Amino acid sequence: MTELIKAEKKLLDVAVAKIKNKKIKDILFVQQSVLKAVDEFMYKRRITRILPLMMSPITDTLNHSVEECEISYNNQTFNVMKSMIFHKQMTMLNADIDSLYIVSPNIRLEMATRGDSRHLFEFTQVDFEFKEKTMEDILKFIEEIITAIFKFVKENCIPELTRLGVGTDHLNITGPFKKYTTDEMQAKYGDDFEAEASKAATEPFFLTNHKREFYDAEDLDNLGTYRNYDLIWPLGFGEGLSGGEREFKLDRILLRMRELATDENAFRYYIELAKQGEIFKTAGAGFGVERITRFITQQPEISDVTLFCRKPGEQYIF
Ligand code: AMP
Ligand code: MG
Repeated sequence: MTELIKAEKKLLDVAVAKIKNKKIKDILFVQQSVLKAVDEFMYKRRITRILPLMMSPITDTLNHSVEECEISYNNQTFNVMKSMIFHKQMTMLNADIDSLYIVSPNIRLEMATRGDSRHLFEFTQVDFEFKEKTMEDILKFIEEIITAIFKFVKENCIPELTRLGVGTDHLNITGPFKKYTTDEMQAKYGDDFEAEASKAATEPFFLTNHKREFYDAEDLDNLGTYRNYDLIWPLGFGEGLSGGEREFKLDRILLRMRELATDENAFRYYIELAKQGEIFKTAGAGFGVERITRFITQQPEISDVTLFCRKPGEQYIF
């Protein structure tokens, strides 16, 4: 029988200690409560739930590089899902569906340099999209769903939060979330504005206007600004959600793709749909389940809220 070498034995000890961790059951109950609150909220509004995919010929182009992970199958190349952004848009081809959400596992093989307290290379997001809605509509929707989640957690998770040594003050929302542009925050806090503004805040707030992926809509009345948004968790927990209005007109999509040197051939079917006028005006967002759980349970590390951690740069056996 093969004996484990010392380094392997250590990996096993670490994995087992993580699974046996005394806090994890309470943390997972809080996470389960978040997902239950999401489902109830969406169900009441009859927002269509679609199931996630794990691979597709096209997936999110992202605005940062990750290691690619392609799978060949049946003479076709699939990529693991980095997000379901394009599938959210495709679903809108169905004339009866005007709103949807997905609890969506994503694989992004983040570089080892992203091995910080908020990045995993496999995580889950709650991803939603609405036809014909604007940035302002979605910001309001985000306020409502986050408020509903926090309320549900406060009603159902007091024993868990108490055992974890966490109060509920950080879950009290006193009014509409404040909105800042990235430019004004950069002027105030410098290049590390997101982290600094998050540390200074005591309630979640929005940061708007990021120049990002080709599908994030530029404001045509104010070129050079973008109708997209992040929700930032306060107390130093950083970005928790990203979203935007989407580009939907062929000329705008091509212009943004060319600016970002996107492989147009890989997107030829998408471009064809845009040509036919079948990419619709939509807006939406997605928030990370592990990140909201980490914020609610006030854990120092995103790995603290997972049983089977996927932190960039580390080795895993299970
Ligand atoms: P994005 O649209 O790329 O910002 O992803 C949507 C949301 O998913 C983010 O706001 C995070 O809450 C979450 N997320 C994105 N990347 C990661 C990651 N590497 N690890 C954990 N959560 C992530
Ligand atoms: Mg983001």
